[in-house]
Amino acid sequence: MSGDALSQDPAEMARRIDTTKAHSARVYDVFLGGKDNYPVDRAAAAAALAANPRGYLDVRHNRDFMRRAVSRLAGRDGIRQFLDVGTGLPTAENVHQIAQRILPETRVVYVDNDPVVLAHARALLTSGPEGRTAYIDADFKDPAQILEQAAKTLDFDQPIALCLVAILHFVEDEQAHPIVRELVEALPAGSRIILSHLTDEMHPEPMRAVQRTYTERGFTFVFRSKPEVERFFTEVPGVRLDEPGVVPVHRWHPGPAPVPPAIEPEDFEALDDIEKI
Ligand code: SAH
Repeated sequence: MSGDALSQDPAEMARRIDTTKAHSARVYDVFLGGKDNYPVDRAAAAAALAANPRGYLDVRHNRDFMRRAVSRLAGRDGIRQFLDVGTGLPTAENVHQIAQRILPETRVVYVDNDPVVLAHARALLTSGPEGRTAYIDADFKDPAQILEQAAKTLDFDQPIALCLVAILHFVEDEQAHPIVRELVEALPAGSRIILSHLTDEMHPEPMRAVQRTYTERGFTFVFRSKPEVERFFTEVPGVRLDEPGVVPVHRWHPGPAPVPPAIEPEDFEALDDIEKI
């Protein structure tokens, strides 16, 4: 575990938690049905849901994609190390639980910059005895710190899966590309990248309405098109896109369970659901 991160003074941690502004990790937690969020986050989630009633389904598809990708890399490719940047609040199944079920010796380093995630990080440090987990309280925008801290737990001579799942849309192009490049270039041969990203290509109107609800609240919210997401892979020499390429998350190696049907806004009792959160 990362002792430094968790030995912080609780009063200092509490001071860092701003309950007057919505935060991405906590809004995401609302969508997943979690309890680690504040009224301001629930209001942000409600506004986003009013703009895009599919939002509930989208976050669940994203989380399911992460599960399938981690299982596949562990089970098919024997990947035993994961660097999960933009971890989010702990939920029932985090990367290490998924991967260690397949390869118990797996090591996972979690990274997030949200003090609420830090406050709940103990739930991420529940590695089985054969593996290891660590938590780094750091910003994606400081890749040097991430790499230095991660090297205390991960062996940078063995393949690592870099997870950038639903984080890059919070980062503008001029920062996102060089940082991804720096992280990817630090990975040894045989490594993998798991990446998901918001787009407005499939449902432009509701997604742009969602974007407005977030930018009004001071979030950076960048949609990227399929070619723009592909660039994260293709611009770094030596990286190639695995099958089936960049696709909607629920279409990426779907599991045996049937893909839930797409819900169109007019079919959805949006107001009922907003009342439930
Ligand atoms: N990867 C998880 C959670 C996605 S929510 C999943 O897909 O299920 C996005 C997460 O990214 C949040 O926890 C948020 O706190 C984190 N995040 C956003 N910007 C960040 C930054 N600059 N540095 C580190 N973490 C960041």
